[in-house]
Amino acid sequence: MVCDIDGTLAPIVATPDDARVTPEALHALDRLTQVYALVACVTGRPAAQARRMVPLDAVAISGNHGLEVWRDGAVHLAPQAAKYVQPMAEALQLVRNDGLLPELGCHIEDKGITFTIHFRGSPRADHAARYLETQIVPKLERAGLASSFGRMVLEVRPPVAVDKGAAVKRLRGRRHITEILFVGDDSSDVDAFREATVRIAVRSPEAPRALLAAADAVVDGPADVVELLEHLADAA
Ligand SMILES: [Mg+2]
Repeated sequence: MVCDIDGTLAPIVATPDDARVTPEALHALDRLTQVYALVACVTGRPAAQARRMVPLDAVAISGNHGLEVWRDGAVHLAPQAAKYVQPMAEALQLVRNDGLLPELGCHIEDKGITFTIHFRGSPRADHAARYLETQIVPKLERAGLASSFGRMVLEVRPPVAVDKGAAVKRLRGRRHITEILFVGDDSSDVDAFREATVRIAVRSPEAPRALLAAADAVVDGPADVVELLEHLADAA
């Protein structure tokens, strides 16, 4: 069983720093680690932050959309991402120097090998999204970096072929696992669906159509995800 964190285990809140995985969700994950060969979280958050949110050693963690894994108490960067440390730092500086982003209500989150521009807090999210699309994305492209829109965010990352699907594949490794259930709520989770045998989408007003279309089943929110995980633990 592999799942996303924000919007899946942790309810979406206005400030990402305030997001919490509920004790009920942690309890359900803990139960699953006793019956499943693999219980893991694959998230856009940095791996170290995800580890703090899900402090269960038996739950494997892949962060920054697969660019990092948490192993033996430390963060390990995907080898192909290493040469982008400097270009990513320069791009982060570039967006921090953009005076209009704070005015538009955008908040920049430094995530190490990636960064995220949040516009959930913007009074005019449509203006913010258009500014990002027309002014910021082209600059990132010229710097040779990749970016994509998610739920009220623009995520900026190295242009390497590592996504949540690659993360799931890497977590599975050489273990003989025939079934992988994946639960997620956002566009990047569609990539993880590729490597799953059972695909569960979490519905929200912002749920991407592609996610819902690719899902085998849809649940209504993080509380329903917990219920699902408890059912899986009961049934195992
Ligand atoms: Mg999510």
